[in-house]
Amino acid sequence: MTGRLGDRLAAVDAAIADAAREAGRDPATLTRIVVTKFHPASMIRELAALGVRDVGENRHQEAQAKAAELADLGLAWHFVGQLQRNKARQVRGYASAVHSVDRDALVDALTVGSAELPALDVFIELNLTDDPGRGGVAPADAERLAERVLAASGLQLRGVTAVAPLGAEPRRVFAGVREISQRLRRVAPDAAAISAGMSADFREAVLEGATHLRIGTAITGKRPLAG
Ligand SMILES: *Cc1c(COP(=O)(O)O)cnc(C)c1O
Repeated sequence: MTGRLGDRLAAVDAAIADAAREAGRDPATLTRIVVTKFHPASMIRELAALGVRDVGENRHQEAQAKAAELADLGLAWHFVGQLQRNKARQVRGYASAVHSVDRDALVDALTVGSAELPALDVFIELNLTDDPGRGGVAPADAERLAERVLAASGLQLRGVTAVAPLGAEPRRVFAGVREISQRLRRVAPDAAAISAGMSADFREAVLEGATHLRIGTAITGKRPLAG
């Protein structure tokens, strides 16, 4: 198992490095997050032994349990799923970053009671679909939400998160995300990060400036449950 996991991890990292070179970027400036949702804590332990430091989860209860079980590993936990306001405080207990901040109420909930905690890295998630029911803020509202994060205590605005809509051409989607990111930097000059690129489209994301890649199945293999 570790052999195959190690092989897939190495293959993905090589492909990331290739894409970075193609874009004239230094691969060392990219953060590769392994999205381990639905997989057991034992797999994360294997990944840590292979050198993985950044892991991503999308469900609070599962993430909290894994983070507690694996506390000895010193991993950085990235929360990448839709987040309910009433879970925000608990997520702050283990996560170093939330990639799915998309509304004022969530910004406020992540701030409450955070005085003793280290700053949380925040990514504003963009909704690039026509469906307002999907997670993410409309791109037109991103700057306003960014200002809310900037004004909040204990939050460090890092940049934006994007998921290419199903059926869309990823390169074109991520080129648009790069433009939104540049616009955002006029109000938040330090928020230069772009969390984009999954198993199927990380190459296109790297070519268009992504800094944080959220990669699941290409490294972990198929998820054991529907997800
Ligand atoms: C599951 C998930 C990923 C990883 O998806 P893969 O296609 O398995 O690489 C990335 N981002 C988010 C928000 C996810 O929920």
